[in-house]
Amino acid sequence: MTGAAPIRSTCPYCGVGCGVLLRPDGAGGLSVAGDPEHPANRGRLCSKGTALGDTLGTRGRLLHPLVEGRRATWDDALDRVASRFSEAVAMHGPGSIAFYVSGQFLTEDYYVANKLMKGFIGSANIDTNSRLCMASTVAGHRRAFGTDTVPGTYDDLEEADLVVIVGSNLAWCHPVLYRRLAEARERRGTRVVVIDPRRTATADIADMHLALRPGTDVALFAGLFAHLHEAGAIDGTFVLDHTEGFDATLDAAATARPGATGLDPDAIEAFYRLWTRTERVVTLFSQGVNQSSRGTDKVSAILNCHLATGRIGRPGSGPFSVTGQPNAMGGREVGGLANTLAAHLDLEDPTHRAAVAGFWDGPRLADRQGLKAVEMFRAAAQGRVKALWIACTNPAATMPEADMVREAIRACDFVVVSDLFATTDTARLADVVLPAAGWGEKDGTVTNSDRTISRQRAALGLPGEARPDWAAFAEVGRRMGWPRAFDYARPAEIFREHAALSGLAAGLGRDFDISGLAGLSDADYDALAPIRWPVATGRSGGRFFGAGGFFTPTGRARIHPVRQEEPAARTSPRYPFRLNTGRVRDHWHTMTRTGRSARLSRHMAEPFLQIHPGDAARLGLVPAGLARVRSPHGEAVLRVLVSEAVQPGHPFAPMHWTDETASAGRIDALVEAATDPVSGQPESKASVVAIERFEAA
Ligand code: SF4
Repeated sequence: MTGAAPIRSTCPYCGVGCGVLLRPDGAGGLSVAGDPEHPANRGRLCSKGTALGDTLGTRGRLLHPLVEGRRATWDDALDRVASRFSEAVAMHGPGSIAFYVSGQFLTEDYYVANKLMKGFIGSANIDTNSRLCMASTVAGHRRAFGTDTVPGTYDDLEEADLVVIVGSNLAWCHPVLYRRLAEARERRGTRVVVIDPRRTATADIADMHLALRPGTDVALFAGLFAHLHEAGAIDGTFVLDHTEGFDATLDAAATARPGATGLDPDAIEAFYRLWTRTERVVTLFSQGVNQSSRGTDKVSAILNCHLATGRIGRPGSGPFSVTGQPNAMGGREVGGLANTLAAHLDLEDPTHRAAVAGFWDGPRLADRQGLKAVEMFRAAAQGRVKALWIACTNPAATMPEADMVREAIRACDFVVVSDLFATTDTARLADVVLPAAGWGEKDGTVTNSDRTISRQRAALGLPGEARPDWAAFAEVGRRMGWPRAFDYARPAEIFREHAALSGLAAGLGRDFDISGLAGLSDADYDALAPIRWPVATGRSGGRFFGAGGFFTPTGRARIHPVRQEEPAARTSPRYPFRLNTGRVRDHWHTMTRTGRSARLSRHMAEPFLQIHPGDAARLGLVPAGLARVRSPHGEAVLRVLVSEAVQPGHPFAPMHWTDETASAGRIDALVEAATDPVSGQPESKASVVAIERFEAA
């Protein structure tokens, strides 16, 4: 280890966005410690962050481009990509090509890919694996606030008197945030309620765990809305001055049946009383809310309660969505979803489109929504997507109905994949594989769940011929005929352009404003300390909406009526179980990085099925035996883990293992690609399956 000052960077895993101090060891590795000055973690790190150094190195890395499986030069590979994409556009129109990218992208990568597709190719067919993560929150925010605005900050968790955690195993999926909450609870007696069908590690600090029937969150929160009204707890002034839709929502709430949750009525009443009498309430939510065919309504049901009581944008008060990936928020800011425009502008708004088209000086700006993730792969399966670029993600393993997705990728005329490895389930299907720069090698910015922008800095050299993703997209843009628009030499140039565009958006009344950073010099960008937007003045921004000021045409928040609906897939005698999926503590996505760490792999060594003892006994399953799990879309063989943490009929399986890492453990092959009608987010937690004992041959 050298005695040089550490390099400040950001952990690449979850949306907490912890700061890390990196010290290269001079031999291609580095040591990692928590950054005591980063506002997200103040020096704390979880097991994944601590083990980052184990996951580096060139072992197995793709070090040069591949074309049709053979080594190629970057020039040849990029020429091939640009010419095949141009041909597809010329023959079949801009809608015949698509990009599928990732919340692991840096903001600069996202910005360039989005600009190329929406501003120059002229299609909005760019979507991201963040569609699987938080699209329902984006839709719920936009429905209520007019923009995709996170009202609060992490500090609210430490200033609240009650924190309600809905559909989130915060202890495993956002561990440092969980630790901050647990410490606040020790310090000041914060009450914690966990709402989750499964008893997870997060419930360890809960005063109350409400194990509701899966998918009944709307019934619970619509019931809370009615209760708040009956208890006289509505903030009439806030409702009158800053919202609309209250009466219609109250009418809908009057029909809510909280009993549909299956919870003890006394427990429901106790929760409602606690929420009602506590002034400082944060309702934190994540994938259990978002990954649902009714995810947007679930988000609305939560936001409604906060808006009706004015518990929003005030210290210790507000709804708070935590994002899964390190830069899901950055992707939202650049408009990296198929239904959004850059800088939180609206794709449907002609004024907004004209502003962006003028700013980019592009030949044709997309004028309608593109294909969302599930739609994109279905269109590919039907032959409607001719050329596809997949970057920094592994959809052949992680998209619902993964076997269909695999066939859809095969059905495309031309597929390019950018990744660290040529061996992922997806990269093996590509015509061209481009070697991407990985964490520790890349340079740019990410935005965490509370709108804090942090730098990811390169501490290691690029291995072999690897390049950053923004550089590959910019090169293809130049070769497709737009040399000036994609003439970027370094990420700081891209960031300045992104910041300047946000100023234009702010002028159109949008929330996302980092125009105060548009004049950063390269040196300022290199030295940029974590900063929360809005940043019009150079100072970190605070909360939104404490005094109204919503971004709807009327300036009022929309309280939206919602009604309980069942999950899309229905159980039947053939498929009697409802499968919940999620993460484990020490792995990330398809384990391309965490799988390289022996200490991380020790926590959960193989894919498993967590199943209730009653179900296990009935099926003849024994602990540590094997179970075959079948759905209408695929099957997997999993180790049996008998546990009362799950409810009868509702087993759980983790999503990390792939064909590359475990034979027959690819859980997303089983998941039905039913989507929320507003957000397009798939329902990853309520697929129907059959289970039987499996005897290895
Ligand atoms: Fe990384 Fe998230 Fe752990 Fe922080 S909490 S160290 S961002 S994985």
